[in-house]
Amino acid sequence: MTDTPTAGTWSAPGRVNLIGEHTDYNDGFVLPFAIEFRTAVALQTRTDGRIRVTSSFSSDAAEVAVSDLAALFPDRRDEVPEWARYPLGVAWALLEATGVDVASVPGVDLSFSSDVPVGAGLSSSAAIEGATASALNDVWGLGLDRVSLAKVGCRAENEAVGAPTGIMDQMASMLSRADAATFLDCRSLQTESVDLGFAGAGLELLVIDTKVTHAHSTGGYRERRASCEQGAAIMGVPALRDITVDDLTRARELMDDVTFRRVRHVVTENQRVLDTVETLRSAGPRAIGQLLDASHASMRDDFEISVPELDLAVDTARAAGAIGARMTGGGFGGAAIALIDHSLVASVTAAVERAFADAGYATPHIFTVHPSEGARRDA
Ligand code: ADP
Ligand code: MG
Repeated sequence: MTDTPTAGTWSAPGRVNLIGEHTDYNDGFVLPFAIEFRTAVALQTRTDGRIRVTSSFSSDAAEVAVSDLAALFPDRRDEVPEWARYPLGVAWALLEATGVDVASVPGVDLSFSSDVPVGAGLSSSAAIEGATASALNDVWGLGLDRVSLAKVGCRAENEAVGAPTGIMDQMASMLSRADAATFLDCRSLQTESVDLGFAGAGLELLVIDTKVTHAHSTGGYRERRASCEQGAAIMGVPALRDITVDDLTRARELMDDVTFRRVRHVVTENQRVLDTVETLRSAGPRAIGQLLDASHASMRDDFEISVPELDLAVDTARAAGAIGARMTGGGFGGAAIALIDHSLVASVTAAVERAFADAGYATPHIFTVHPSEGARRDA
């Protein structure tokens, strides 16, 4: 164990998914980008082999011996506060992934601060995982690349926290570049950076957080995943990624209506991601509006994961001049995005706020986000 004290700051961003919803766990395509809201971690090594995590988010701290992480996760995770399972889970998953001798790595104090809104669909979870993974990878000298760190974050969230999520958020947070989206093939984990050019085109991306959280979102997510698995099994393929729009006629004959519509969402959404990448490259961001609109319609009608608040946000933004709009994230609440002219930020915001007030809904939180750089060491 090295006795040279190390201190530093690392950070990782939240993300918005431009298009490609519920395609990640079907081995498909997604197109997220990192945003300017970040979670930072200040790290200080310590000489007693223990790891302590604190956060401005919670008054509960947690401290364990690094050598006890393997016993803590996943079976005894209840012994630490829920939020601490994210960073401690990342530490655990890093040790598991590298097989490094726990006695050879220094203990650490990790202190988190963040301006990523929690639970608003902007992936504060990937931000805390990405910051932790980046910091420990450097200080523990593990040498993992960014894709491996994203996998570690995902494993921590799945197994140490127990949330059944795909890897999109972690990949976006680890790999994104400024002014660009990360086109991710969730099967191969290959990525391409795709220029967005919003600023150059005079566009803004508005996030409309409805603040709606539905109690059945976890159950709804599990149900949708099960339908997708069933659809793939009926079609005789490993994942819905393996069928295309041309296969939908046959799919309709082979399965019940609900399963078919779940399948149709995923298959058409995969195609929309490919079309969005192609359109961004050939025609620029002003040309992607219809694809965003079609994505929303598919989630509302086929995947049935929208809620009235999200539909109202999308419809109102569009009526007020948005180029395109869609709900983003897992559904059953959360946020919508709208691509709008820079000059329309105030008027679209006002129109949505008025529509929500008229409908008797809680005031939404509306703000712009800008495609930003992924995880990094700051100091
Ligand atoms: P999100 O859509 O924001 O990712 P999740 O439910 O996936 O929502 O993750 C939110 C959880 O992640 C929080 O409830 C908390 O446990 C943890 N978390 C996120 N950011 C922080 C932070 N800065 N400090 C402590 N815990 C955090
Ligand atoms: Mg999350």
